[in-house]
Amino acid sequence: MRILIVEDEPDLLTSLAQALREEGYAVDTADNGEDGLFDAEGTDYDAIVLDVMLPGLDGWEILRRLRRIKKTPVLMLTARDQTRDRVKGLDIGADDYVVKPFDLEEVFARLRAIIRRGTNITTNRIEIGDVLVDTAARQVSFKDKLVELTAREYSLVEFMALHRGEVVTRTQLYEHLFDENEDSFSNLLDVHVSNVRKKLGAEFIVTRRGHGYRIA
Ligand code: CA
Repeated sequence: MRILIVEDEPDLLTSLAQALREEGYAVDTADNGEDGLFDAEGTDYDAIVLDVMLPGLDGWEILRRLRRIKKTPVLMLTARDQTRDRVKGLDIGADDYVVKPFDLEEVFARLRAIIRRGTNITTNRIEIGDVLVDTAARQVSFKDKLVELTAREYSLVEFMALHRGEVVTRTQLYEHLFDENEDSFSNLLDVHVSNVRKKLGAEFIVTRRGHGYRIA
């Protein structure tokens, strides 16, 4: 899953990006409104964490313009718990909000929820044959045994599970699993797919030649 954070406070931006990377997300960052809108329009993020008060283009304006072209789930960061601000954000098309100062666990949980909502999956536990994906615990078990996956392998499995039954293209996987800063070694998709097959069964991810990958 790939997240964009738009936040102008450097410390907050750095710590939030680091925390989300540790959770296994690919993370891009923007520290002003113009760059934030540019990234949000140009890349299909799984979710955007959007601060309201930004220099230049504020969070409301970014959201307003983004909603003309995209449904990307948006979690707003509001400075105060003011009903008017929350209502405004939700009216413009925000999916949820957290009030600063926030608890990281709350941000994680709300992000998981808005990402899941976009995929029509209603539970944290997705069962696919012998494989069980727990998106809250970020754990995968195979035949009732917990499987050790790297953060990237987990992201691959989770993305495929949330899109089960669909053919997912390699371009989609590159866009959703890796961020703009990653080196070419970390994004060797075939290696991750092959490792997941070793751990969860060769048939778990099916190659649709010329199209992409699919899980049944
Ligand atoms: Ca701000």
